[in-house]
Amino acid sequence: MIDFQPTEEQLLMIRAVSQFAAGLRPNIREFEHAREVPLAVLAEAAAMGLGPAIHIAASHGGAGLGLVTAVLLEEALAEVDAGVAFGLPGGSFATAVAELCTGEQAAAWLPKVLDAGGMGAVCFSESKPSRERPGFLTEATPVDGGFVLRGEKAFVLNADRASHLLVFAQVDASKGWDGLGAFIVDAKAEGVRVGPAVPTLGLNAVRSCTVQLDGVRVTAEARVGGSGQELTRATLRFFAKEGLKNAARSVGLCQSALTTSLEYVSNRKAFGKPIGHFQAIAFTLADRSMDVDAARTLTWQAAARWDQHEAKPTSRSEKEALLASAFAISFALEAAMKAGDCAVQLHGGAGFIRDYIVEKLMRDAKQLQVCFLTAEQADQIAATLELGLPLDPAVVLPTPETQSVFT
Ligand SMILES: Cc1cc2nc3c(=O)[nH]c(=O)nc-3n(C[C@H](O)[C@H](O)[C@H](O)COP(=O)(O)OP(=O)(O)OC[C@H]3O[C@@H](n4cnc5c(N)ncnc54)[C@H](O)[C@@H]3O)c2cc1C
Repeated sequence: MIDFQPTEEQLLMIRAVSQFAAGLRPNIREFEHAREVPLAVLAEAAAMGLGPAIHIAASHGGAGLGLVTAVLLEEALAEVDAGVAFGLPGGSFATAVAELCTGEQAAAWLPKVLDAGGMGAVCFSESKPSRERPGFLTEATPVDGGFVLRGEKAFVLNADRASHLLVFAQVDASKGWDGLGAFIVDAKAEGVRVGPAVPTLGLNAVRSCTVQLDGVRVTAEARVGGSGQELTRATLRFFAKEGLKNAARSVGLCQSALTTSLEYVSNRKAFGKPIGHFQAIAFTLADRSMDVDAARTLTWQAAARWDQHEAKPTSRSEKEALLASAFAISFALEAAMKAGDCAVQLHGGAGFIRDYIVEKLMRDAKQLQVCFLTAEQADQIAATLELGLPLDPAVVLPTPETQSVFT
């Protein structure tokens, strides 16, 4: 049985994060124009313990508070700005390290990033996807005592602030997706070049960059996550958990769009009454309100499944958590886009101008839909599990081979 009542401790944390986020509200346009959250704000977030280490198990160097707590806090933060939520200390790197590393490896790597309130980045998207064979074009060639990495990764969030990168690369091209490896790379290592931030539509408080790897040498110890099925499962867990955080950010965005729209349609009058009292508008609000509730319930439920799985892991509980995450991600991402779109529509011409926040919500929602796991990729996970098909990285990894799972 799943209990959806946050604990006293969680309520206190939500209150603290909501207060912190409310303090940022006057500055969110500034963050967007500067294309960054000031380091002082990130330091404050780190001091509050905000970031991915919240849900990471104590055995891996995290706070061990579980994914339910993490999604509650992501939602609270994203209700003010979903972009800021992406820039938190540690970033997706910490989740990837937790999923791919043994406790010993995580204890060695995570403090290098987290203790300084720093940032890491995860490089999976390819600048030029392979069209000839399944797998990545970025290669990790085994050499004496380690590997040499060559290739170019795209859209890497926070790459220009990262001290460490977790890079997915092809170790054995003949094995396709089974020939993948994951490597932790010092961002200052010789041969690593981080490009300038790419211009993006939304979530502009954070930056995405290309990362070039030009003959970067790493030691054998830098390889994490094993290979074959072991790496596949760890990679899927990473995508599902980070995707679930995006689902929570989408719930926060939906809530913000709803609250802002309710206020607007209650105050704006036409033909002698608030426009919210006209059926077309009232029913739209009812639909968006249902979306918030459904997206929130699916997201909390999936997070609870992961927490239950961590307490007593079995192959079955992992599949249930993956499936629940896919449902939550797919639904919440679509709900966010509808929420942003409707909020602009309900504000009429005012919704289109930058004096109001709803145009930003719509842009951020679209960006949420195409980052990490897209709704379609979440659907692929769900369908693969429901049909009992083999889970391989092609289900989620963003290359044209992704599309070959279901044609
Ligand atoms: C804000 C943001 C942050 C990001 N951060 C990172 C990062 O830190 N590191 C990183 O490596 N990458 C990052 N990305 C890249 C992101 O993960 C990819 O954009 C995403 O996974 C989609 O992959 P793609 O762009 O290659 O799209 P493609 O795989 O080319 O897909 C194109 C479209 O087709 C859809 N699609 C794919 N397969 C199917 C199918 N079988 N059936 C139906 N539709 C399908 C996709 O959902 C998408 O809409 C980020 C992107 C954004 C926008």
